[in-house]
Amino acid sequence: MKIGILVREDTMMKCTGKGCLNALLQRKDAFARYNGEIELLTFTHTGGNLNRKIEKMLEAGIKSVHISSCLRAKSPEYETLTKTLSVNFTVVGYTHGSEAGVRNSSLHDIKHDIND
Ligand code: SF4
Repeated sequence: MKIGILVREDTMMKCTGKGCLNALLQRKDAFARYNGEIELLTFTHTGGNLNRKIEKMLEAGIKSVHISSCLRAKSPEYETLTKTLSVNFTVVGYTHGSEAGVRNSSLHDIKHDIND
């Protein structure tokens, strides 16, 4: 499975991504759902030219995009971003920590079975 992780731009000014990458490497939290090989082909923030980043993720064959837990917790754009990405990708609305998170969202309405 080729995947990408999108994180909050402001958080990237001070975060190394350890929580996201640790969860990925340990196959826990949001990454526990994958059974086979995972290829991380994007780890970037949502700032700048997001449409171009989406194009590049599509070109790379990415099927599943994780929206970081900090985006879920702090960004007012979370719901919009989730819906935008779901046009082209399976969207998982967090990376590390609890799936329930700290806010309710409509993500559960559009989340697919990632192992299909
Ligand atoms: S989800 Fe956690 S580890 Fe990932 S970028 Fe945000 S604060 Fe950093």
